[in-house]
Amino acid sequence: MAEPSVFERIVAGEIPSTKVFENERVLGIRDIAPKAPVHLLLFPKTGEYANVAELAAGDPALLADIVAIAQQLADEHCGGQYRLVFNTGADAGQTVFHVHAHVLGGGLTEASL
Ligand code: AMP
Repeated sequence: MAEPSVFERIVAGEIPSTKVFENERVLGIRDIAPKAPVHLLLFPKTGEYANVAELAAGDPALLADIVAIAQQLADEHCGGQYRLVFNTGADAGQTVFHVHAHVLGGGLTEASL
């Protein structure tokens, strides 16, 4: 068995986090190293999808839920305007291979990726 991802460990309560959203299937937290004034992470509780393409193929409704929740959180935290980023692959900056959306807002710069 693969080691649980950091996000699975957060879901299990083994690592602390600042939660901003939770339902049966999705957790939203504040990024520990924010790249923008608002930097939230949204991910499925299941760690079975490594990236957004796998999630789109395996459970498109769950991906659609994550996009809708991103809008809801952006409405609450940064006036509904935001950047939604799914890094895919190590060369693109992905470090956690448990699909997650970065919700960035509140005054973005070129470095907010
Ligand atoms: P990525 O580089 O796209 O895989 O994004 C992983 C993100 O997870 C980075 O922005 C990290 O700062 C963030 N991160 C890693 N560990 C934690 C943690 N324990 N709590 C909150 N965010 C984390």
